[in-house]
Amino acid sequence: VTETLLKVQEIDCQIREKEQMARDIPARKKEEEVRLQKHREALAAAEEFLKKKQSQIKQLELEGEARRQRINKLRTQQFEIKTNEEFKALNSEIAGVQAEISGLEDKELSLMEEQDAARAETLMKKAALGEEEAAVRRDCSTWDEKIAVIQNELQALRATREAAASGVDRTWLNTYSTIFARRDRALVPVEEGVCGGCHMTLPRYLVHDARSHTKMVKCDYCGRLLY
Ligand SMILES: [Zn+2]
Repeated sequence: VTETLLKVQEIDCQIREKEQMARDIPARKKEEEVRLQKHREALAAAEEFLKKKQSQIKQLELEGEARRQRINKLRTQQFEIKTNEEFKALNSEIAGVQAEISGLEDKELSLMEEQDAARAETLMKKAALGEEEAAVRRDCSTWDEKIAVIQNELQALRATREAAASGVDRTWLNTYSTIFARRDRALVPVEEGVCGGCHMTLPRYLVHDARSHTKMVKCDYCGRLLY
């Protein structure tokens, strides 16, 4: 019984390990997706910033245009002016508006530099996202392949387990399964009077019973089956 049960346990350990691997993969895929999302957000923020610069420039151009129209109007007015004083007054108003225009143009120039930098930043972020997407696609397809392999292995292992377990007494198997569900192993050796599961020193009668292989012997401390 012990030998068959040990064989079952060995397979169960492999099954458990593979099931864990299969469970880990979706979590890792999700992590990749989160990383990708961060890249997308970074790109969106860069594009937003670029748009803001573009609209600021447009706003300045509109303001400049309004002032140029104002100057045209003032020049037209000058034709209808009678006195020298009034003419001079309009001239200085025009000069004032022109000063505003060149102020706006300076501002626009520096905004254009910011716009160029923002555009370069956007392109960089876009390239980074593209690389990341390709990497994630590669990783995901590798994982999909891996998971398919694991599923096949699990199927084979379960069949082998079924065959091995069919040779074990039901009561033993049920007890074993209940313990295995909660522990790393359900069946552990007694080594020099110590439980191979929890490493506690066992009473002599338990060691004796475990050696005899005639009945189920459980460790008093951890409840694992002893052999
Ligand atoms: Zn124990």
